[in-house]
Amino acid sequence: MDLILASQSITRRRILDAARIDARFMSPKIDEENITKSLIADQALPRDIADTLAEHKALKISLKNLDSLVIGCDQILVFEGEIFGKPASPEALKDMLSRLSGQTHRLVTANVIYKDGKPMWRHVAISHMSMRTITSNEIDAYIEAHWPDVKHSAGGYHFERTPDLFSSVRGNWFDIMGLSIDPILRFLNQHQAGNPFQIPRLAAVLGHPIAQSKSPLMHGHWLKKNQISGDYIAIDIPPMRFNTTVRMLFDVGFSGFNVTIPHKEQALAFADDMTPRARRIGAANTLIKRDSGKISADNTDGYGFMTNLASQNSAWNPSAGPSLVLGAGGAARAILVALLEAGVPKIYLCNRTRARAEDLAADISDCIEVIDWEDKQGVLPDVFTVVNATSLGMIGKPPLEIDLTNLNPDALVTDLIYAPLETQLLKDARTRGCEVVSGIGMLLHQGVPGFEAWFGHRPAVDEELEALVLT
Ligand code: NAP
Repeated sequence: MDLILASQSITRRRILDAARIDARFMSPKIDEENITKSLIADQALPRDIADTLAEHKALKISLKNLDSLVIGCDQILVFEGEIFGKPASPEALKDMLSRLSGQTHRLVTANVIYKDGKPMWRHVAISHMSMRTITSNEIDAYIEAHWPDVKHSAGGYHFERTPDLFSSVRGNWFDIMGLSIDPILRFLNQHQAGNPFQIPRLAAVLGHPIAQSKSPLMHGHWLKKNQISGDYIAIDIPPMRFNTTVRMLFDVGFSGFNVTIPHKEQALAFADDMTPRARRIGAANTLIKRDSGKISADNTDGYGFMTNLASQNSAWNPSAGPSLVLGAGGAARAILVALLEAGVPKIYLCNRTRARAEDLAADISDCIEVIDWEDKQGVLPDVFTVVNATSLGMIGKPPLEIDLTNLNPDALVTDLIYAPLETQLLKDARTRGCEVVSGIGMLLHQGVPGFEAWFGHRPAVDEELEALVLT
């Protein structure tokens, strides 16, 4: 089956890629503006306008590619009977957003399939988008931050980048993105003999900021390598919009999320139920929508940490003796729980801000003894595991200053930091004769349970993935 998408939209191309559809992409170049104007003059309905534009695009490509199936599509934004196009200037965008603020508009997404210059199939989807009330100052800040990205978008927004502009949505993610992939796949499955195409599943990492996240690279690699129909993106959500936005993203079709700073505690509170380890850690890094519609929270940081240790050093014996954990932030919390569950009999917890360590110890276990930051070297002869869970030693951060002269050479030393891959702590420990484990494996392993839950396949953590994430 030779399939052509008559569109130059990167987003639509991404949807077909996500569905593992091998298609060609062609730009139809029709005079959209004049066709739309004449249809409006004829008082055509919005859905007929979108449908006609989709047809023009498909027809033009179909006539030059007889025998191919050609998908044409178009999307228009309708508010109070008026069609909103692309904003001509920042001032026009301000006017548009001021009108859409606090109101519900419709996105009309038309899809047609042509063959031999004739229509075979058509589908129009309507999504109802309710924008929250946005203040004038907020609109100004939005335009300042997003104008170059959104000036080519009808209505002046990209739902996938700023879903927090909305309070609720009635619709499907792919329709909103501009291509109704579910009905298209149903049509294609009726007209092809091979394995049926699967509707893509969706997951994302949520944080604020989020641009630095390696998760899209990891999950994208697993999806492609295993030829799974699905997509994984990064979405920036401000903390005060977390609950509303996550609820809305589940409603439009997401199977789940990874959650990172600063949303991990909110994610736990958001869920309907949680795993015992998430409850004990008091934070979630994974949200999963179950078949029942209930949202479950998990925390896989400790799992990632322990699986990494086990895969790098099978001789490590947690019950051999006490551990020293440096740091008392979010990551340390998960590490403490994981070490205790693995059988470590006692943990010395050492943090620059002692009070934070004391709160953490009081929350988690009597087996944790808090020591002063200056006393970290004093316990080294006694410990069998050392974990750096501070940000010290990371590229761009101050070094972690610790003299390992008295460290037991049988101890295992691990650093959560993976940039650089081998920190000074690990270099010094290696010189001392200790086993060392870098933090990169923790990052890779913590993603496995979420991927398996959302996409139904347990992915492999291998050198190829590690090299990809480290580039
Ligand atoms: P966090 O909540 O911000 O905690 C940061 C920790 O570093 C706190 O204990 C903080 O001490 C300490 N710290 C920061 N600057 C310091 C300084 N100048 N001197 C002494 N201590 C200092 O961060 P987190 O989420 O726990 O992450 C900690 C580290 O683990 C980060 O480097 C992160 O990249 C890494 N990490 C790696 C993975 C992985 O998969 N490999 C996963 C999670 C985290 P105070 O309490 O005194 O501020």
